[in-house]
Order: sequence, then C-alpha cells, then structure tokens
Amino acid sequence: MKTISILGATGSIGQNTLDLISRERNKFQVKGLTGSKNIKLLAQSAIKFGVDVVATADDEKYLDLKNLLSGYDIEVCAGVSGLLEVAGREADWVMSAIVGYAGLLPGLAALEAGANLALANKESMVSAGPILKEVANRKGVKIMPVDSEHSAISQVIRGENLDSLVKIIITASGGAFRNLSKSDLMNVTPDQAAKHPNWEMGKRITIDSASLFNKALEVIEAKELFDLKASEIEVLIHPQSLVHAIACFQDSGMKAHLSPPDMRHAIAYALHEEKRLNLSLKEIDLASVGELIFEKPDTDKYPALELGFDVIRQGGLAGAAFNAAKEQALDDFLNHQLKFTEMADVVRATMDELISQNRLDKVVELEAVKAVDNLARSVARRSAEKFQI
Ligand code: NDP
Repeated sequence: MKTISILGATGSIGQNTLDLISRERNKFQVKGLTGSKNIKLLAQSAIKFGVDVVATADDEKYLDLKNLLSGYDIEVCAGVSGLLEVAGREADWVMSAIVGYAGLLPGLAALEAGANLALANKESMVSAGPILKEVANRKGVKIMPVDSEHSAISQVIRGENLDSLVKIIITASGGAFRNLSKSDLMNVTPDQAAKHPNWEMGKRITIDSASLFNKALEVIEAKELFDLKASEIEVLIHPQSLVHAIACFQDSGMKAHLSPPDMRHAIAYALHEEKRLNLSLKEIDLASVGELIFEKPDTDKYPALELGFDVIRQGGLAGAAFNAAKEQALDDFLNHQLKFTEMADVVRATMDELISQNRLDKVVELEAVKAVDNLARSVARRSAEKFQI
C-alpha cells in the first residue's frame, strides 16, 4: 500500500486528490491531512480516510478540531509546528497543496522526511526552487508537477532528446476578464475576478488567473522544474483550456498535450507515477470543439506576465520577492485597498526598489528567502498606500 499525506487537504486540489484516492482505497493508505480554517471538512476527511494525524494551521481552531475528532484515534496538531509534524511523518507520497508561501516549509519537511512530493504549491517553487531541488536530490526523491501546464510539459518531453528542444509553450485561459479591455479592468471587484470560466479552483489562484500573475508564477515554475531559460518559454492565450503545453523541437515538430480542464487528470498522473489509468473524466470531443484558438497575450493589458520573465532573468532571490509582493498585493485587492490593475504596479515598484538597493542576492538560502519574503511584503504594503482607494 502506498502511504500518502495531503497538505492543504481541505482545498480544491486536496479534495480532488482525496476523490481519486477514494476510488482505489485498497491501494492507498492516507496517513496525515492538513487544513486551516475549514476544520469541519478536515475532520470529515480525516474520519472518512482513517488517518493517523491531522493539523490545522490555525492555532485558534485546535480545540474545536479536537472536539470534532473526540472518540477517534486521530492525533490532532495545530499551527506551523503542527503542519511540520504532519509533513514530516513517514509517507511515500505527499501532496503539497497549501495555497501560497505558507506551503514552503511543510513541502520542505516532506522532502526531508524522504517522501516524493507532488507539487501543486507553485509558490514554494517560485520562492525557493533551488532549495527544494537540492533537498530532493540529496534525499533521492522526486518532485512531481501537478500544475496542469507543468504536468503537460513533463508528458510532452517524456522520451525526447532534450538537446533538440527549442522552446516550451504554455497556455493561459485569460481568466475571468479575457474579453474586457484594459480600461474596463480598472474597476473590477474581487468577487468578479474569483469566477473562472473553465476551471474550479481556490479563490486566490482564480484571481491570479484573471491578472495573469498565475501565469507569471508558472513561467518561473517551468524554469525551475525543467531548467529552461526565459527565451525558451512562451505563453499563448488559449481560451478553451484544452491544450496545456506544447514542446517545440528543432525539426519544427511540435508535441501538444490536451486534457479536459479537470485537475484530477494531472493529480492522477502524479499519484500513479506517470501511469495512465481510467479516470472516467469527461472526454474532449474534438469534432464539437471544431477549432483550437491561440492568441498572443496583450502585454499592455497583462503587465504581470512580463514581470515573471524579468524574475527569471534576474535570478536568485527575485522569485521570493516577486511571490511575496504578489501575495501582499492580492491581499490588498481582496481587502479593497488596491484596484485590480494596481496589483502589477505595486509588484513592479517593489521589485524595482529591491533591485536598486541590491537586496536580491543570487544565492538562494532558506534564511535569505524568509528575510526577502518579509521585506518584499512590507515594501509592497508601503507602495500600495500610494494607491489607496
Ligand atoms: P484552496 O484555496 O482551494 O485551498 C488551499 C488549502 O490551503 C486549503 O486546505 C486551506 O485550508 C489551506 N491553507 C490556507 N491558508 C493556509 C495557511 N496559512 N497555512 C496552511 N494551510 C493553509 O487552493 P487550491 O487548492 O486551489 O490551490 C492550492 C495550491 O495549488 C496553490 O498553490 C495553487 O496555486 C495550486 N494549484 C491549484 C490548482 C487548482 O486547480 N486549484 C491548479 C494548479 C495549481 P482551509 O481551506 O481549511 O482554510
């Protein structure tokens, strides 16, 4: 039996992972789960899968979670130490699906404990890719991409001689506002941004999809996971979300990966170690799709995207600073303290300030990542005050 823990079990990726596991209970044993605010779902999932240990990130929810699980032989922990306790328990495979920078330390703990890490939490790879890869190498374990584009890249380059690879194209749906003009974007609200036309995802990634900050994170994630240069990555808008990545080879041949816009496809590919199982997902009917649409992104409308390429060119701690500034700007947008279009201005101003002050070292070490994360959040907050609505 393969032993499994899920970090971020109450979220969209976490619940999709549990859905897949519930179809084959005889193959998997779920050892640990983590969540944060949604302790009811955390407790239900823990009971359903008979886990050993659960943790809520929220210390204040500890007693309520303990009450929900009283009478069950399930250990209950809380706070960051609780997350690390669950992540550090022995398991063959750990899903890293906490949202945001908060996923970094638990992901690292899982690798240090010798688990293969299924990586949905792109923010940890963007902030500290070299550290995650060093630990995985040292422990002899794998980091398996779960983001649909990165899972698709791994599928299209599989078996290929990478010397003949010219570039990778990843696609972006364009999110909630793909049909709006730049001036229309000025007054959109968080609720409008949180509705994705094709994918069911958590609120933060859905809003990041509308601004293309999510695609900027994915460009950096692709660089880290597949050792690509900025010039070897291209982004195209593909509103149908059917083609997720295309590998372009020197003989002008291209290999594309298509799958329905359902994260269970990519999660299952990682869960089953690159084997393809019958998942009974809704199939793509190409004849009724008719034509596949691709467009160049409007960089004026989506300034966040170019920032992602700048981060790759800058290297070092730029990824940590970019992610932190983006998370702060998103918090400010959600709190109605910034307009949608101002998020990119704040992140650009933060990056410019940190670069001009030589604060972004080329060497990525954990203490330096933590320090830059803190610094970038405070610079972004200060910068946002200039835009105060
Ligand atoms: P959700 O918002 O649906 O879930 C996030 C999970 O993280 C929940 O379990 C939540 O707990 C937990 N969480 C929230 N804050 C904290 C914290 N401070 N510390 C620890 N845990 C916390 O997000 P998604 O599932 O959509 O996304 C998860 C990750 O996967 C993100 O990094 C995202 O970018 C990535 N991803 C998601 C995709 C998708 O289709 N959803 C696609 C590709 C990548 P609770 O709900 O109990 O508060």
